[in-house]
Amino acid sequence: MEIYFDNAATTKTSELAIKKMVEVMQENYANPSSLHGMGFKAEKEIRQAVKIFSDIIGAFPEEIYFVSGATEANNTAIFGTAKGYIRTGKHIITSRIEHPSVLRVFEELESQGWEVTYIEVDSNGYIDMEQLKNSIRKDTVLVSIMYVNNEIGTVQDIEAIGRLIKEINPQTLFHVDAVQGFGKYRVSVQKAQIDLMSISGHKFHAPKGVGMLYIRKNLKIKPLIYGGGQQKNMRSGTENTPAVAAMAEAAKEMYDTLEDNFRHVSKIKEFLIKNITENIENAYINGDEAGSPYILNVSFEGVRAEVLLHSLELENINISAGSACSSHKKQASHVLVSIGLKPDIIEGTVRFSFSRYNTLEEAKHCVEVLKKTIPLLRKFKRH
Ligand code: PMP
Repeated sequence: MEIYFDNAATTKTSELAIKKMVEVMQENYANPSSLHGMGFKAEKEIRQAVKIFSDIIGAFPEEIYFVSGATEANNTAIFGTAKGYIRTGKHIITSRIEHPSVLRVFEELESQGWEVTYIEVDSNGYIDMEQLKNSIRKDTVLVSIMYVNNEIGTVQDIEAIGRLIKEINPQTLFHVDAVQGFGKYRVSVQKAQIDLMSISGHKFHAPKGVGMLYIRKNLKIKPLIYGGGQQKNMRSGTENTPAVAAMAEAAKEMYDTLEDNFRHVSKIKEFLIKNITENIENAYINGDEAGSPYILNVSFEGVRAEVLLHSLELENINISAGSACSSHKKQASHVLVSIGLKPDIIEGTVRFSFSRYNTLEEAKHCVEVLKKTIPLLRKFKRH
């Protein structure tokens, strides 16, 4: 049995998405900008995808843009706002626990003279609303807050955040990195007063290298990529029609089965929490109960996360140490530091993340392996 509990890093591509992708590659391969009939047919695929996404998030079709993934979407949203609104102000806000594709952009803007406020989080990863309230000023052009944290699964109250931002300064734009929330929660850009929103296909069973950026109409966002003027000049380059069509198919599937999937992964997460905490000493669950059921972050005191990861790998159980996105670095996870975990606890922290393809049997097997492995690793570490 090969167990894949690393769905926050990426997911298996769904059968329907693969089928759609192959169909478009084989039969509908023309350039969607071409003026002939085949081009028109390819463009129809893009238009259908636009319709699916705009319906899901409650946007207008002209507000949907296709990009190469959430890294590009986040970069476009933040740099594009900075470039477009530099005359309005030079103050931007984000949180301590964002993904590097947001944080590194803020740091780059800081080095270019922008003033950045970083909002602190509590021990469960919720942003400090009081600090946010006190930080928004007349010259604040952007607030960027993620929906669901990719390491600990904290779900921010984005509607309350949107309301707060707009109450204080209606001109301040609100960007949401919704990568880990899309397909798992119903998001309305109108209700949450979101101006820009990023998603990535491969986190919800679409292929890698394709994503979507929502940009509210009539904003002055500048593009990141210049060229042939596709997608109303906002994102030049021939659209990746097969991947876009497949991503739309995967999104439809997610929303058609949202509640069932949610219940299914909740059972898996609850089973793991109960059985890990009842059977393994000094194991702590990070993030609170209201967090995403798709992500479970656990600290095993006295164990090195990488050693545990490789021990589980030998048993065909695939998990992440902290977050795969930061696994290139040796530094402790900025998210775990921000929620106040001590270095020796961070050292033993791993992430299990789920999808509709996982089963309760897999969770049961995983618990048995953990019950055997953790005491062994602890003994090993002490000597
Ligand atoms: N934001 C979040 C919250 C993520 O989890 C990820 C992927 N780890 C990204 C952005 C970046 O997505 P991609 O790698 O597909 O560009």
